[in-house]
Amino acid sequence: MTVTRRDFAAAAGLGLVGALLPGERRMTLADRIMAEPAEPIPPFTFKIEQQVGKIAAGGYAREATVKEFALSEGLAGVSMYLKPGGLRELHWHALAAEWAFMDRGRCRITVFDPDGHNEVVDLGPGDIWYFPRGYGHSLQGLGPEETHFVLIFDSGHFSEYGTFSITDWMGLTTPNVLSQNFSTPQATFANIPKKEVYIAQGRVPAPLPSDPAPGTERVGSETHRYRLMAQAPHEFPGGTIRLASSVEFPVSRTFTGAYMTLKPGALRAMHWHPNADEWQYYLSGRVRVTLFGSSGRSRTEEVGPGEVVYIPRGFGHHLESLGPDEARLVLGFNSGIYQESSLAQWLATVPPEIVTDNTGIPESTVAGFSRSTPGIIASR
Ligand code: MN
Ligand code: MN
Repeated sequence: MTVTRRDFAAAAGLGLVGALLPGERRMTLADRIMAEPAEPIPPFTFKIEQQVGKIAAGGYAREATVKEFALSEGLAGVSMYLKPGGLRELHWHALAAEWAFMDRGRCRITVFDPDGHNEVVDLGPGDIWYFPRGYGHSLQGLGPEETHFVLIFDSGHFSEYGTFSITDWMGLTTPNVLSQNFSTPQATFANIPKKEVYIAQGRVPAPLPSDPAPGTERVGSETHRYRLMAQAPHEFPGGTIRLASSVEFPVSRTFTGAYMTLKPGALRAMHWHPNADEWQYYLSGRVRVTLFGSSGRSRTEEVGPGEVVYIPRGFGHHLESLGPDEARLVLGFNSGIYQESSLAQWLATVPPEIVTDNTGIPESTVAGFSRSTPGIIASR
């Protein structure tokens, strides 16, 4: 017997319109664009740093979720600033894994895994972190300057403002239960916050011991920090790419992060990603981004520092660096396996007569196409 969606909803007694069967995926806006050739491609850039955001004692955050940025259903992002000692409180996320790129300053992270390990480690500019979905964590600015990092989450429905924070939970719990839970008198909890703190103004923590005393550390086998800028970059004539998938950064099982530089006039070659959506945050430069959306549709937008780009899985795209400054950007993909298909490499590796019949380009020309992926091409 075949169980239809209606049977499933009725059997569950829910009567929900559009309830999903296990394993079924809801149609995203990008899916609907592909299904409806008359639909134009919607905006795919977002000015995250122009958002008011959420301000707390120890810092502030601005976010881009599917609520503000309709196309970005596969990934969400946050730009966060912490004062020295500013503590993004102990919390977890039920909906998404968290990845971050350190832009400025220094930050201490703690991450608590379900085996009871607790990693405490410091990060500086160019370092990244990854927390699997549901793992408890905290972030703290180490000063002396303000700390800035870009967070990316592997669901566009994620909101930084709707996370599971310990002050929120404990503030909602009766003193009697707290007393029993921690085996300590009720008076212990008389002055705890009554609602979510979000970013507390804490004390700048002491340096971590370079040689911890035996038995004082309880750390798992996998670190949650990766030094992306310390990696030797993939060098191309027009720029560089550093990339950390689950191959380079094993704990990052659901996410690939990258850092790219584009010289003025360079072209990030025409390509697409078969298995992941892409989210970009621009640190510097001016870039013209073009998205190819099938059925005679493409859309071009220009972005600069503090702006975000979202590229749905499978959509063709390329980036033109407009100068005068070098463009620098942080990129995230919602898969731990990195896949990229390049148009130029494809046409160079398919039998040339197919390309000639398909495009009219002479076989002698096609035979000269480079068979390696072009990556980033220099200004001509
Ligand atoms: Mn978090
Ligand atoms: Mn791409």
